[in-house]
Amino acid sequence: MTMYDIIRKKRDGMELKKEEIEFVVRGYTKGEIPDYQMAAFLMAVYFRGMSERETYDLTIAMLESGEQLDLSSLKGVKLDKHSSGGVGDKISFVVLPIVASFGVKIAKMSGRGLGHTGGTIDKLESIPGMKTTLKKEEFLKIVDEVGFSIVSQTENLAPADKKIYALRDATATVENLSLIASSIVSKKLAAGADAILFDVKVGRGAFMKDLEQAKKLAYLMIDIIKRRGKRAKAVISNMDQPLGRMVGNSLEVIEAVECLRGNGPTDVMQLSYVLSKEMLDLAGIQVAEEDIERMVHSGKPLTLFKRFIEHQGGDPQIVDDPNKLPVSKNILDVRSECAGYIAKVDAEAIGRACVMLGGGRTRKEDDIDHSVGIELVKKISEWVDAGEVIARLYYSSRSDLTAALELVKSAYEFSEQPLKIPPVVLEVIE
Ligand code: URA
Repeated sequence: MTMYDIIRKKRDGMELKKEEIEFVVRGYTKGEIPDYQMAAFLMAVYFRGMSERETYDLTIAMLESGEQLDLSSLKGVKLDKHSSGGVGDKISFVVLPIVASFGVKIAKMSGRGLGHTGGTIDKLESIPGMKTTLKKEEFLKIVDEVGFSIVSQTENLAPADKKIYALRDATATVENLSLIASSIVSKKLAAGADAILFDVKVGRGAFMKDLEQAKKLAYLMIDIIKRRGKRAKAVISNMDQPLGRMVGNSLEVIEAVECLRGNGPTDVMQLSYVLSKEMLDLAGIQVAEEDIERMVHSGKPLTLFKRFIEHQGGDPQIVDDPNKLPVSKNILDVRSECAGYIAKVDAEAIGRACVMLGGGRTRKEDDIDHSVGIELVKKISEWVDAGEVIARLYYSSRSDLTAALELVKSAYEFSEQPLKIPPVVLEVIE
């Protein structure tokens, strides 16, 4: 077996055997297969695709390239949640405390933001003192005591994905369903949960630009998980405009706390309730959305969120006093040049503007500024007068304010006709 023959086979549209896929993943992870051959292989997969069987074999080869977390010391069903990435997505901070309030355990590993999408770990690190790297025993103890914990994904979980993803990023081979599914699912399987809920984002600010593609990805991921004897579901949700009104690390923590008080923006509340309901269903607990709403109003999820912060070394006072979070005092109002109904708030443009303010990174090694971000004062369907504020930019000395301002302005489109608020939940897939 040689890498040359495997590349040629895939280039010519043939199906690869399990052993050939294992040879590629093992060889590349060990450094025996050079980048140029792996890049050619990925491009062949990009154009020729993979069958479901090949995608499954690729996922398992990537899963077995590293450590797999054993959660068996925790009692009951262990859940996990994965979002395919978006702008303003602070949902985990709302959903995990809600689901844990019903007695279900969630051991979550999350990533950092890259490109225009934000990352849960960056948002958490805006909380003073918060640790996002813990020893395995410490992580499991917090899950056991609080009900949930969120840590940064460890180096040795699916290391094949880490290497392959970096190469895909540099060779324009990210947007392939088999490559995306194997990348996400190998990491989720390695993290050891019994059941996983996927939040597959679709729209301008997401990897998946149309509903059909998003559904295909959801089915593919659910199928792989089920073949491993685990449970999974997917919620397809809208990412045409950012979620909620806050985009940026500390600003999103503040908004998540508002949601845990039951006062968050409608789209974040709606999506959080649906995701919580589906996660609980995966754990064998059937509840109505009213039960979840009641749980939020009981204050228990907010208390768990405070305990989670405290257990991971952070300052829990940020919950009652947001002034303890780093939020820039430099604020620039963005005003509308015309009157009308808001027709579009392009999520990708807003995400990129946040990066320009310093709130995200374009290279993995970049430092970020937790205090900057964007407040979306107006969103789709809302009326605005000429000269009225549509957004606020929280900036710092390192922000590229001019470029960010232009992008935020270009993200907005207006209509003379009133528009419907787009639904946030598009479909639930079993
Ligand atoms: N997220 C991942 O982890 N991998 C992909 O390929 C795309 C999104």
